[in-house]
Amino acid sequence: FAGLAAGAMIIGLAACSSGTPAASGGAGDGGLIGVAMPTKSSERWIADGDAVKSQLEAEGFKVDLQYAEDDIPTQVSQIENMITKGAEVLIVASIDGTTLTSVLQDAADANIPVIAYDRLIRDSENVNYYASFDNLKVGQQQAWSVLNGLGLTELDGTAIEGAPAGPFNVELFAGSPDDNNATFFFNGAMQEIQPFIESGVVVVKSGQTDFNTVATLRWDGEEAQSRLENILTSTYSDGSKVNGVLSPYDGISRGIISALEGAGYTVDPTWPIISGQDAEIDSVKAINSGEQYGTIFKDTRELAAVAVKMAIAVLNGDTPETNNDTDYNNGKIDVPSMLLDSQIVVKDNIPSVLVDSGYWTEAEING
Ligand code: BGC
Repeated sequence: FAGLAAGAMIIGLAACSSGTPAASGGAGDGGLIGVAMPTKSSERWIADGDAVKSQLEAEGFKVDLQYAEDDIPTQVSQIENMITKGAEVLIVASIDGTTLTSVLQDAADANIPVIAYDRLIRDSENVNYYASFDNLKVGQQQAWSVLNGLGLTELDGTAIEGAPAGPFNVELFAGSPDDNNATFFFNGAMQEIQPFIESGVVVVKSGQTDFNTVATLRWDGEEAQSRLENILTSTYSDGSKVNGVLSPYDGISRGIISALEGAGYTVDPTWPIISGQDAEIDSVKAINSGEQYGTIFKDTRELAAVAVKMAIAVLNGDTPETNNDTDYNNGKIDVPSMLLDSQIVVKDNIPSVLVDSGYWTEAEING
């Protein structure tokens, strides 16, 4: 990488030293940046890809943006292709964080720096920087939204005095086990829920509390739906009700909602409190209609801006700004990270958080 920085600095100087902007008007040298995204099946990655591409283009770069439809060999060959085409930097949101070791070695051999985007790439020393959110905090926020809906805590996790004693039946879901974020989300959430389980206020009636048991491969909503259907049959056929569901992602929340509807739950008065993540439009609508209690908003435009700044910095031989260089060890190295803040969205703050920021319009939410 040191060799690369020296080489890249020459590119950067060529682009900047004359004092005139690069041909297309931005800071870029017109070079190519490879952007590998996991799938178009979820809205957020489309928003991420669009934001990264347009921001890089505004800086004068060419962009090779690829989606791999959650297929690992496809993602590997897309990245291989970017290397062959001469990409100067790779920005990668991995599908399975452990499967890119060999292709990233090829990138390193070609002196191409790699920025892990949102998901940490594991088992490789060839990951230069990581742009993401505070993922442990995201998990805490998911737990707080469930606990808040049950009347147990404020949205910031502060205990509510005189809160009901329960017991509340809460079922747990985690994300894809091959996605480093899923463990962070689940650990963060359990840190907050565990004390309530210990005091008997929250009961996981299925007994399923282990990460590997509650994980959902590829964040698949249908898989989550059938797992909850099985739990409802095996554990709740005595007439007891689920009061809350910890869900790590809006697509999983929608699967959960379908399972509940199928089992005859109605929004009034027995509908459980359900969390989520990503503020996907259908889920924002579900929050408005009371089917989902909350989601976690992570502004993809801001994340894209961080990744783009990192790419420009490495190309100029500068050190990108980071704010956490110790929490994200990928099994080989601590990856210097820039972590952004996320926000809990519930019905009341949809206008202030999502509409005022321009993420969704009123018309999209009510349409
Ligand atoms: C992202 C989440 C997203 C999930 C499913 C995670 O890596 O951090 O925002 O909900 O993947 O796409």
